[in-house]
Amino acid sequence: VGTRSFMWDITSRKQAELARINSEKKYRELFNNMRDGSVIISLEGKILDCNHAFLKLTGYKSREIYEMSWYDLSLSEWHHPEKDIIRREVLKKKYSKLYEKELTGKGGKKIPVELRAYLIKDDINQSAQIWFIVRDISQRKRIESEVLMLAQSVRSVRECICVTDINENFLFVNDAFLKTYGFKRKELIGNHISIIQPENLDSKVLHPTLKGGWNGELINRRKDGTKFPIYLSTSIIKDDRKKPVAIVGVSSDISESKKFEEQFRQVQKMEAIGQLAGGIAHDFNNILTAINGYAELALMKMESKNPLFREITGILKAGKRASGLVRQLLAFSRKQMIEPKVIEVNHLIIDLDRMLHRLIGEDINVEIKLDTNLGNIKADSGQIEQILVNIVVNARDAINQRTEMAGKKKITIETSNVYLDKQYILTHPGSKEGMHVCISISDTGIGMDEEVQAKVFEPFFTTKGKIKGTGLGLATVYGIVKQNNGYIYIYSEPDKGTTVRIYWPMETTDEVRKSKPESDLNFKGGKETILFVEDNEEVRKFTITALKTLGYKILAATHGVEAIHMIKQNTENIDLVITDVVMPEMGGKELAEKILNITPNARILFTSGYTDNHVVHSGTLEKDVDFIHKPYSIASLAEKVRQVLDT
Ligand code: ADP
Ligand code: MG
Repeated sequence: VGTRSFMWDITSRKQAELARINSEKKYRELFNNMRDGSVIISLEGKILDCNHAFLKLTGYKSREIYEMSWYDLSLSEWHHPEKDIIRREVLKKKYSKLYEKELTGKGGKKIPVELRAYLIKDDINQSAQIWFIVRDISQRKRIESEVLMLAQSVRSVRECICVTDINENFLFVNDAFLKTYGFKRKELIGNHISIIQPENLDSKVLHPTLKGGWNGELINRRKDGTKFPIYLSTSIIKDDRKKPVAIVGVSSDISESKKFEEQFRQVQKMEAIGQLAGGIAHDFNNILTAINGYAELALMKMESKNPLFREITGILKAGKRASGLVRQLLAFSRKQMIEPKVIEVNHLIIDLDRMLHRLIGEDINVEIKLDTNLGNIKADSGQIEQILVNIVVNARDAINQRTEMAGKKKITIETSNVYLDKQYILTHPGSKEGMHVCISISDTGIGMDEEVQAKVFEPFFTTKGKIKGTGLGLATVYGIVKQNNGYIYIYSEPDKGTTVRIYWPMETTDEVRKSKPESDLNFKGGKETILFVEDNEEVRKFTITALKTLGYKILAATHGVEAIHMIKQNTENIDLVITDVVMPEMGGKELAEKILNITPNARILFTSGYTDNHVVHSGTLEKDVDFIHKPYSIASLAEKVRQVLDT
């Protein structure tokens, strides 16, 4: 029995041994084929065993890794916390909680991992060992940091971003959204979008959004009730089964750009009106030159007791008024001839002061505040006067229209140096960066509402009725300012008053020429020979008659080619050529060049109602060119002709 039992003993031991080997094999296989890294270390940290996955993760060969300690595989900052986990959790409770750290792989590569440690006993000597199961979480970390970055950007962009469910209840809004609308986050989340939308936009926005997306302009409402324009783009978020689950809206406040667009449109409109007005004014100019000229001629030949004297005086008076209007229209359309000189604005205002007082009347107080260091400008002093008179007269009218007068009746004229910076340019279309001389005229009058302000520069726009107002004042001012690359800005509030600011580019050269006093007009004539070149028949006939009346010998041509022909044929000396600027065949400038080639000392007097870039650049006469503006009176023609002949 003993033997048998012994035999049995051996069998069972062998079987046990076999079983042990088998389970060892199984365990090894399991260990090796785990997708996660598996490492066994001694309590001191020496690496005793590890699987393929761990070698792959760290990049070490097996012969390298068995030379290493577990703590060689991470930066020292991890050592202490990890030893702590082993002491307090693994040795006491047999395993640790899941924790994250970074392994340092071959070449110092950092590998984010998630791991858990277990306490095990060595089969042979029963010593305690630690078994780690290590999971590579680099991909998860990457996605996490991407999501974090995304969330941070969404939160911090300047556009308003919101996410709603498909019933348009808020799920998420970013900081810009809260700032723009003035709500707190908790006042929005869970609430319906109608809290910021004054009208139902289901068919306009929601339906197209659910079909894929929408973008366009809308009016939305802030918490305080103010409405403002936005530009909105929407899109839809779908779940795995392509079912829409949320709506994303990205929007920005476009109040500023809307305002800019409106101003820009205004500038363009003025441009178009200007061209139209300029064209008409040009034709009228020629006709008026003839009407006024003939009336003057008739009066010259008439005794004052002549029965027709009164009637013709009436014609001349009306014609002169018409010329004045045409001149303003030309100024508005920037077709007025100007002779800019460097001038001191302060002097001009002081000179004008007495005249302004007469215009304004006794009961309105005029305060003049001049900057003594004011820069110079290059301008036609006549135009500056025109501007000041127009604006001051408007100020007077606005003050006198006020029935109750709360404040003082006061007009303030100020000058200052102003630098228009990039920011200003961006928000004020038409203005240009740089140093400017600013002339500012304020009044305590009735002011203007927005509707009137939008139209003040349009010619013939007036609120004063057809008899009192022409509606050309500010149109003229606008034209002149534009012609000189300046900028005009009006600030006005109903019942408070108005400030008109004109910014004139500062002139850096310091030549200052005082405008010469106008000499008395006279009718002095002469015996010289004049070649008169003009394509408009009425003007030509009138001027010929006028010049003949003054005693001159006259040759006349209708355009440049004909004029050259006459000069070449004429054996007599031609003392003066008077030529229109804009003519068919050959214009005044080309004609002048040709004439100067033939006779270098020839005297040439240009005439035009119009600026034209053949002879004039941006409305400015070339230096030392003699010029007379159409329509001209006989008196001014006589004076100008003598002046040119006598110099
Ligand atoms: P007019 O003076 O002939 O009416 P303007 O072109 O000078 O023509 O002005 C146009 C309109 O602009 C005026 O009719 C008036 O309504 C308004 N306006 C101009 N200046 C002022 C001002 N200082 N205060 C109030 N309204 C003004
Ligand atoms: Mg006016």
